[in-house]
Amino acid sequence: MNKRDTEPAGALVSLFMDLARIASPTGNEREIMDHLTTRLRGLGLEVEESAPLEDRPSAAGNIFCRLKANAPGTAIMFSAHVDTVASQEGALPQPVLENGTIRSGSPAVLGADDKVAVAAMVYTLEQVIKKQVRHAGLELLLTVGEESGLRGAKALPSGQIKASCGFCMDGTGPVGRIVTRSPSQKTVRAVFRGKAAHAGVEPERGRNAIAAAARAVAEMKLGRIDADTTANIGIIRGGEAVNVVPGRCQIEGEARSHDDEKLESQVAAMLDAISFAAAAASVDVELAAVDEFRGFNIGPGHPAYDLALLALEDIGLEPVPVSSGGGSDVNIFNLMGIPSVNLSAGMENVHTPDEYIAVESLNQCHRLLMEIIRKAARQ
Ligand SMILES: [Zn+2]
Repeated sequence: MNKRDTEPAGALVSLFMDLARIASPTGNEREIMDHLTTRLRGLGLEVEESAPLEDRPSAAGNIFCRLKANAPGTAIMFSAHVDTVASQEGALPQPVLENGTIRSGSPAVLGADDKVAVAAMVYTLEQVIKKQVRHAGLELLLTVGEESGLRGAKALPSGQIKASCGFCMDGTGPVGRIVTRSPSQKTVRAVFRGKAAHAGVEPERGRNAIAAAARAVAEMKLGRIDADTTANIGIIRGGEAVNVVPGRCQIEGEARSHDDEKLESQVAAMLDAISFAAAAASVDVELAAVDEFRGFNIGPGHPAYDLALLALEDIGLEPVPVSSGGGSDVNIFNLMGIPSVNLSAGMENVHTPDEYIAVESLNQCHRLLMEIIRKAARQ
């Protein structure tokens, strides 16, 4: 193990605990962003905040700051999201440290996803400044709205990031995992419009929108389509009363694939099933297929991948490239032309009250980030 960065865990742990105590469910990131802005300004950094995603006092925008290079090499970006999934009404986060593990001591989610990365990145930046570590340019982007469709990352002003590659730290499981591959995703929506009628008196005059939607779903191949592709219908809404032939029914689903051609053909098959079922039931249908995010595939030869791999090896952790089925801010950065990988932050059971992070994982996150910075600077 690299001994250079063996820091006392205390400062990083307290930073994480401080952040975890500030509730920041999506759309309510004002307080945590103010806290972080004050901390970063205290380091002498200029902090830019972009426009909030919502027009209300508890909302905030992404914050961004840059450290000017003091060495040649590859300029890099670190990014993490500050928003968390919502907790049970009224539950306030109370992080508890016990036996080397930090958990939530209340019904609120801990918010390790993604405050572990926020804490590790801010702490690492502080250490770089205090110890005058050589680096080739370092940008920090903390996003809002990740949990509600990557909205903060999508609102990133073009040209803000100058770095040639990026590192998010929003993966689950042991530190060492590198998400190098993620699928593209499309959402499919359909509204069937039939004709309402009294179900007992004159059903002949009705055209049943629920029956049409049900037939459409039955005609679709769903679940795991092949090694690269999955599909799901997750929402069906329609009907008002048992004695009314329903005139309206809406379905919503998604398809994901690591192969864009396979994604297109799966979505086309779902839309065909919808059109076929609507025509067969003589109901009208409105259809939409919307791009949610684009996939990426970052392997050997990409600076983000190579730097992460070398840094992991140097701190004594085994690099484990993994393929993800989900989307994160990384998908957006890659789409914007900032080749980025998603590193695991060591958090477990995310999005549940049982979420936890081991202090050792938190320290590993810091050591990994510090080593990436060192590797990106040419000696
Ligand atoms: Zn996350």
